[in-house]
Amino acid sequence: MSIFTKIITGEIPSYKIAENENFIAFLDINPNAKGHTLVVPKKEENKLFDLSRDAYKDLMDFSYTVAKALEKAVPCKRVGMSVIGLEVPHVHVHLIPLNKMADIQFAKKVKLTNEEFVALAQSIAAEF
Ligand code: AMP
Repeated sequence: MSIFTKIITGEIPSYKIAENENFIAFLDINPNAKGHTLVVPKKEENKLFDLSRDAYKDLMDFSYTVAKALEKAVPCKRVGMSVIGLEVPHVHVHLIPLNKMADIQFAKKVKLTNEEFVALAQSIAAEF
């Protein structure tokens, strides 16, 4: 069972932003930039292109909705998108508010307090 499945089942906590029957969005715990969000299918699959075409399209559609809210809640030049999966083998889309090229790089991280995570998740969720 992946760490994201544990978040989905409520076994471990997350800073949740949105969820529907098939997808969940929550803040990345080790963000590249403030507002770094993960969009995850509830059905655990390893790789993005293991998904059916329909599941892929639905994931992109849900990510679109989340990105729109993110763009409104977190000041940035644009929202970037990345799919990696080398650390957690459960499909997820990274949505990252970008102000500079370094924000898309997974080497440079920002530190946020619990209060900042909670406030961020609430402000993005309020934009839906
Ligand atoms: P990757 O699999 O390389 O796309 O990276 C996995 C991402 O998941 C990293 O950016 C981690 O910071 C993030 N991550 C790992 N565990 C958690 C967690 N419990 N809650 C939120 N994000 C997480």
